[in-house]
Amino acid sequence: MSAPGRPKREYRSAQHEGTPVTALAIDVRGLTKRYDGRAVVDDVALQVATGRICGFLGPNGSGKTTTIRMLCGLLKPDAGEGTCLGLDVLRESRAIKRQSGYMTQKFGLYEDLSIRENLDFIARLFELERRTEAVDQALARLGLVERQRQLAGTLSGGWKQRLALAACLIHAPRLLLLDEPTAGVDPKARREFWDEIHRLAQEGMTVLVSTHYMDEAERCDELVYIAYGTVLARGTGAEVVRQAGLGADASLEQAFVALIARAQDNFAAP
Ligand code: ADP
Repeated sequence: MSAPGRPKREYRSAQHEGTPVTALAIDVRGLTKRYDGRAVVDDVALQVATGRICGFLGPNGSGKTTTIRMLCGLLKPDAGEGTCLGLDVLRESRAIKRQSGYMTQKFGLYEDLSIRENLDFIARLFELERRTEAVDQALARLGLVERQRQLAGTLSGGWKQRLALAACLIHAPRLLLLDEPTAGVDPKARREFWDEIHRLAQEGMTVLVSTHYMDEAERCDELVYIAYGTVLARGTGAEVVRQAGLGADASLEQAFVALIARAQDNFAAP
């Protein structure tokens, strides 16, 4: 785990000058989404302080993607309230979208466009004023300058993921919502990706990232563990282990196993 309470700088860019920086980048409660009468996200509260990396963990189907999509304004909650970046999640989803970067596990860029063309396309979508500069910066930041003419479709998983992160950053968001960004990526690329996430957080970026990898969970400032659409534990790794009812020498993996076993008793169908 990173040291708690390390000083943060404000993550700022020309595009968001004048935007207030709130102490909590994510502050929602009662977040609920129902499909066919079933609550797949049920009364979820999340608070993530500005500049922190929050790991979002839970089994498949536990509601992580649905929660993330509600936070970034792509999905309307059935209930709940709160703010992202100080903006109302129900009424200001458009503004939230403009100031947050959302990356999914699936590569969503154009395979038949080059790296540079993909980034330029995204920059146009955001109607950025200094497009060339923004693209150049994103290329440099993610080490993509040498490959900028390469077609996205010919990139390996790790490079595709770098391009996806560059695309996420092009409009200088203040919040990153990353949905299993490293699924299926090799260990070296995963490590480099996390090094970049930490550099961004050091600059004041807030990150909510879902993952199944324990080594990635270890690299987060704090964790939220969800199952059956309900938060089962939250806090630092040590706090999650304690909430699972285990001793201080237990691993995070053991804590998650204990939490899900307990939840199965409470939530699973008879
Ligand atoms: P996770 O990201 O943790 O794997 P999801 O948020 O994708 O979980 O899904 C939570 C639950 O909601 C799953 O049971 C999934 O099948 C269901 N679900 C997600 N989207 C829809 C949808 N559009 N219609 C019906 N059910 C959905």
